[in-house]
Amino acid sequence: MHLHELPAQGAGLDFEAIRFDYRHSADQDRATPARHPIVVVGGGPIGLSQAIDLAQRGLPVVVLERGDRLSTGSRALCFSKRTLEIFDRLGCCQPMVDKGVSWHTGRVFFGNDEVYQFDLLPEEGHERPAFINLQQYYVEGQLAVRAAQLPNIDLRWHNKVVGLQQHDDHVALDIDTPQGRYTLHADYVIACDGARSTLRELLGQESRGQVFRDRFLIADVRMQAEFPAERWFWFEPPFHRGGSVLLHRQADSVWRIDFQLGWDADPEKEKQPENIRPRVQALLGADAQFELVWASVYTFACLRMDSFRHGRVLFAGDAAHGVSPFGARGANSGVQDIDNLGWKLAAVLGGQAPESLLDSYAREREYAADENILNSTRSTDFITPKSPISRMFRDAVLRLAGEHRFARTLVNSGRLSVPAVLHGSVLSTPDRDEFAGSVVPGACAADAPLQLEDGSTQWLLRRLSGNGFAALVFGDAQAAAGSLRAIETSGAALDVLRIGESAANQLAWQRYDARPGTVYLLRPDQHVCARWRAPTAADISAALQRAMGGAAGQVLDQPLGTQASAHSTAQREAPGTSAQSAARVPAAQYLITTPNLDAPDDFYEALIDTHALLDNGASHALNARLVLLLANHIGSSQVLREALAQALRGATPGKA
Ligand SMILES: Cc1cc2nc3c(=O)[nH]c(=O)nc-3n(C[C@H](O)[C@H](O)[C@H](O)COP(=O)(O)OP(=O)(O)OC[C@H]3O[C@@H](n4cnc5c(N)ncnc54)[C@H](O)[C@@H]3O)c2cc1C
Repeated sequence: MHLHELPAQGAGLDFEAIRFDYRHSADQDRATPARHPIVVVGGGPIGLSQAIDLAQRGLPVVVLERGDRLSTGSRALCFSKRTLEIFDRLGCCQPMVDKGVSWHTGRVFFGNDEVYQFDLLPEEGHERPAFINLQQYYVEGQLAVRAAQLPNIDLRWHNKVVGLQQHDDHVALDIDTPQGRYTLHADYVIACDGARSTLRELLGQESRGQVFRDRFLIADVRMQAEFPAERWFWFEPPFHRGGSVLLHRQADSVWRIDFQLGWDADPEKEKQPENIRPRVQALLGADAQFELVWASVYTFACLRMDSFRHGRVLFAGDAAHGVSPFGARGANSGVQDIDNLGWKLAAVLGGQAPESLLDSYAREREYAADENILNSTRSTDFITPKSPISRMFRDAVLRLAGEHRFARTLVNSGRLSVPAVLHGSVLSTPDRDEFAGSVVPGACAADAPLQLEDGSTQWLLRRLSGNGFAALVFGDAQAAAGSLRAIETSGAALDVLRIGESAANQLAWQRYDARPGTVYLLRPDQHVCARWRAPTAADISAALQRAMGGAAGQVLDQPLGTQASAHSTAQREAPGTSAQSAARVPAAQYLITTPNLDAPDDFYEALIDTHALLDNGASHALNARLVLLLANHIGSSQVLREALAQALRGATPGKA
């Protein structure tokens, strides 16, 4: 099949089975290499999304894909609200939502007991759900259908990049095809060629981080079941002793079950149906009827490249970073990469922004990758404790969680993907006025239902689905007159959305902490880059210039805020070093070390007596629960770290 033969919406297609034809390109016959502004390498979800984004901006894009088909089997399944909002802008979201299973509730079990339930979108007034569960091949299928509608996308199957040379003003790519090798030149190359990126290797780069020693079995089963559309996660369930289990419902009545196997498991043996069936049967019950549709065993790593930009080659998606599947941060963060890169590259190629704007892509998305890696690493450490003591604390948290709400906040079965807030981005103008709420500079715009000037209703983000900068202006025409005049005088080409003060717009006013005249300036990727109560034309021009990387003295090649570096340090530290760094705290600032016990002897006796009838294991477990309870009572991680530092002074270094 040729890409352009894909029917609208892809109705009735078996996306897993489609094979795309190799087509000879006129570029292969040229005596000198053809030159293209942008070549995307890799036609996975991230490469396809990037191509659509750029094509919608009017740019011609060549996509080189070594294979001839979309994803097969069971890979990504949870696609987040932010990803869906980006797919809305790319014009392909609705069929995914129609096909997928929308959900927002998660339940966590320990043994037989439910210990925790969470809601990822507890408030009304958002068009898209917290998540949909949809097999990756459906998502890629809808992206391919959308790409087929854009004539400026030239997607070449069976085109494998095997060579790369960087030059001052272009990149040369050598490509293998069934008809031999040819060379292409590109102004910019976007490497979306996955976790084992060829381009990364060709540039002599690597992704560094932590490889986890654990294995998980995926068993996808088709069945009719009454389970609700929720994420269920079990720690140490009776039907799978010693491991965890995750259950998700996907499209086509298929349920995805992930069984933790441990590092020593034999992947080939575990994949055999006769070994999988008893595991599934133990979960579902002896009488359950199901059909096994997919099985695989995966391992994972949390890692990233040091820099996502190497000259004219920009890395996105799994090529740039990798996380464990817990938290669904892989494809979701890759889609945010391309959302960040597309407008910047278009602005650079269009001559509206300096080339250095591309450095801000790298720095912003490296920051986001650090956040994802930190969250993913923490989840993995909780699910697969690395030492007896970490298992002890994990189990102590789970035991306390049934009864104590504070402990539920510590249960970590995967902190699910949310968009990064680009704190400290050099493209953002710091606040001059006071604002409350979470839509701070660097954050993604929040959705809300709107009633527009003509009385029609629309979702805020949907209404913004253009490709340029936008301004939200709050207030009726008269109340917002000053702000509207400032925008007009600035001469900025903005998509202005005025949000009147009606009851129907109440949620938008709340979410943006709006007053009459308030203005939010949004980048093309819908991140807030400035906001004011009453801006002048000069404010707007300066903020726009800054967001385009052209403000005087602006340095775009700097890591974002201190939070990012803290994340990178934390995730690269060896286990135990955070406690050791606590030991470097010279003296307690906040921890009370002067006498503070109301009855010292009673305290001491209570501690000893409580342990009197316990063996060593039970005693340690008790201490772990005690520490957690007292830590919550303290409520300050600063005080806890100081206490750890003081306590560590008495510890003998080295492991028993
Ligand atoms: C078990 C599992 C569960 C997951 N669950 C989730 C989830 O719920 N949510 C989520 O967001 N993510 C999840 N992920 C992660 C997600 O699958 C990946 O993040 C996503 O596929 C990355 O997309 P990509 O386009 O960057 O790379 P890929 O999907 O790997 O695509 C790369 C493409 O590049 C092509 N290519 C490679 N080399 C070359 C070359 N030299 N020349 C030309 N083409 C080339 C490949 O053929 C491929 O088509 C999961 C992953 C796994 C393994």
